[in-house]
Amino acid sequence: MQSLQVLKKYYGYDAFRPGQKEIIDEILSGRDVLGIMPTGGGKSLCYQIPALMLEGITIVISPLISLMKDQVDTLKEYGIQAELINSTLSSAEFREIVMNAKEGAYKLLYVAPERLETESFIDLMRQMPISMIAVDEAHCVSQWGHDFRPSYRRIAQMISFLEKRPTIAAFTATATPIVKNDIMILLGLQSPFEYVSTFDRPNLYFEVRKPQNKLQEIEAYLKEHVGQSGIIYCATRKNVDELWDRLNRLGIQCSRYHAGLNEQERTQNQEDFLFDRVPIIIATNAFGMGIDKPNVKFVLHFNMPKNMEGYYQEAGRAGRDGEEAECILLFSTQDIVTNRYIIENGTSSSSHNKEYEKLNSMVDYCNTEGCLRSYILTYFGQESLEDKCYNCSSCNNDTEETEITIEAQKIMSCVKRMHEQFGSTQVADVLKGANTQRIRSLKFNELSTYGIMREYPKETIKELISFLVAEGYLYLEGTQYPILRLTTASYEVLRGQKQIFIKRIIEKEVARNTIMREAISDQDIDFVLMELLRQARYEIAAENRVQPFMVFPDITLKDMSRRYPINEEMMLQVSGIGEYKLAKYGKKFMEIIVEYVEKNNITVIPVDEWDNKKVRMTNNLGAIKGEDTKFAKKSAPRDSHHLTYELYAQGKAIEEIADERNLSQMTVEGHLIKCIKEGMEVDFSRFIPQEYEVEIMEAIETCGPNLLKPIKECLPPEISYTAIKFTVAKYEMIHVD
Ligand code: ADP
Ligand code: MG
Repeated sequence: MQSLQVLKKYYGYDAFRPGQKEIIDEILSGRDVLGIMPTGGGKSLCYQIPALMLEGITIVISPLISLMKDQVDTLKEYGIQAELINSTLSSAEFREIVMNAKEGAYKLLYVAPERLETESFIDLMRQMPISMIAVDEAHCVSQWGHDFRPSYRRIAQMISFLEKRPTIAAFTATATPIVKNDIMILLGLQSPFEYVSTFDRPNLYFEVRKPQNKLQEIEAYLKEHVGQSGIIYCATRKNVDELWDRLNRLGIQCSRYHAGLNEQERTQNQEDFLFDRVPIIIATNAFGMGIDKPNVKFVLHFNMPKNMEGYYQEAGRAGRDGEEAECILLFSTQDIVTNRYIIENGTSSSSHNKEYEKLNSMVDYCNTEGCLRSYILTYFGQESLEDKCYNCSSCNNDTEETEITIEAQKIMSCVKRMHEQFGSTQVADVLKGANTQRIRSLKFNELSTYGIMREYPKETIKELISFLVAEGYLYLEGTQYPILRLTTASYEVLRGQKQIFIKRIIEKEVARNTIMREAISDQDIDFVLMELLRQARYEIAAENRVQPFMVFPDITLKDMSRRYPINEEMMLQVSGIGEYKLAKYGKKFMEIIVEYVEKNNITVIPVDEWDNKKVRMTNNLGAIKGEDTKFAKKSAPRDSHHLTYELYAQGKAIEEIADERNLSQMTVEGHLIKCIKEGMEVDFSRFIPQEYEVEIMEAIETCGPNLLKPIKECLPPEISYTAIKFTVAKYEMIHVD
């Protein structure tokens, strides 16, 4: 079998990431390897795949018990024979594993470095058919790194005792030239193939904030990121405890981790986080080494760390799955003082001067006005980006702005030509030159502004309009069906007396879309299904006592939620499903999807048409009048009203949903009513004022439910169309025959 087939069969992935193929090929040819790749780059596969392909057993040296356990659990979930040996084993367990290993029962055996200090263990190693030794987190061998582990120095010695020297492959995410040199020499690598991939993590957003009040800043952030998994790092145990206490009192679910807690509590808290039982963990830097949780959405630093190495490693725990994630550092000058204190009183073996130097670089990072990503890359000795990254606070906050006066004039004159009677969607449609029934019947296609912004995506036009509204260049009137009006400022712009600048939203969008790697755009996902699958995964993981991501990573659930795989062939095409996992978990997930697809009348795209990554969906209650269905299908393959429902279920008001989704409130209401008709639960009391309900019902009885206007006219004026619409829906629900 070829390495690519192994990747597909076991891991269910279709393509290698940069460097993986080269490294695997070199190992298979018997050459030593030194692989330097960022966190989340996919180093594990670089040795796991050759381990599967080579005769004999691969020994993996890894610094932490939790790390080994995670990896071995993950491998077992893939149906790969792997075991680990560490200090927690009883001697009986130990003997059994060793015996099995000698008989070739495992492809991979993970070993804690401390084991290499005992001669009897090395004796055992001599009896195993070792094909390769993989050294993970290889920087631990160097005193100059940040996690020096003296036992790593034993590795070379152990190898020299073996009868036949196996191939040695070393991996790390952080290696300055001096550390790299140490790895080469202290591990005794022989003219290794070196692969240094870029340290850039394009899916991570970097930001430095300097808030007046860090606690409030954190609270506000968490309110906007409810339910997402995240880590908050603090400099001291005291900080951790205080923040934990405060957030708990606010009812924000979080756990904590630091060296002051007893081991049992630490393990418990860590597992709560890993198993998605608690979304947030607050921790000192004692937490995280060996945390491979892939779906961490944000890493916040309550305090500035003492060096960039530490910072980038901690921040790098966000977004391992390649999905967008955020790394935000909260800086205050007090952090400098705290860190000086830590350095002065620390037990570090390296000189204080060196540490002060590193601290200064860290402070520079917090104060730079340049691209944060480039700063990081340069710090680690790599070339900085040629251009702005458009995904850090510096690049996105660029003072160099783009002028949009012309665009603003086009929009304003279009508003004027439409007699200031329409909302932003219609104005955007005319500017875009959309060919809809409505536009033709209103003869808007004959306006001079029809299609004058054809080259812009409609979303961008709408964004520009909301920007103009936010800045007072346009006025949005009314709440039911808000319409765009011109303001005095509009006329200044139209007369050329005023220029307008915006902070590069157009380029930013384009740039960000091109840097994302394997990420699946949220646009394409059916969130209702995704939630069902997530729930199933949670239950299965609990049953099997593994972390949810070991069952399937998020990316797999997302892929299922946009493609609706309803048979085994389709399942195997989903990212992250190999043969073994298909057999183990596929059926359960397939059942859920099949049921969902049937219940919602979804037309599933056959597997050979998947390449275009589009899924069609038709529905009983389908295309409602006036909606540009062609557009809707292309960019929103799942039904749009279900997404509205998602937001509604999160407790959002109609106005908020309209804002967030860039829809009119009327459309949002229409969505919810559609959901009601499909039998989804909607809380009517949120829309129908109780004191009027009977009166509205009576009006509906009198006028019939089909036309809203007559109903409205026989009711007091303060009763809104919204209230009437929902009452009609309720009326129809009750009066169904
Ligand atoms: P590292 O050890 O370099 O930090 P990991 O080996 O833990 O990274 O991999 C990070 C994540 O990326 C894992 O969830 C892994 O399954 C996933 N991954 C690795 N290689 C690929 C690939 N070729 N395609 C898709 N996902 C991958
Ligand atoms: Mg790793």
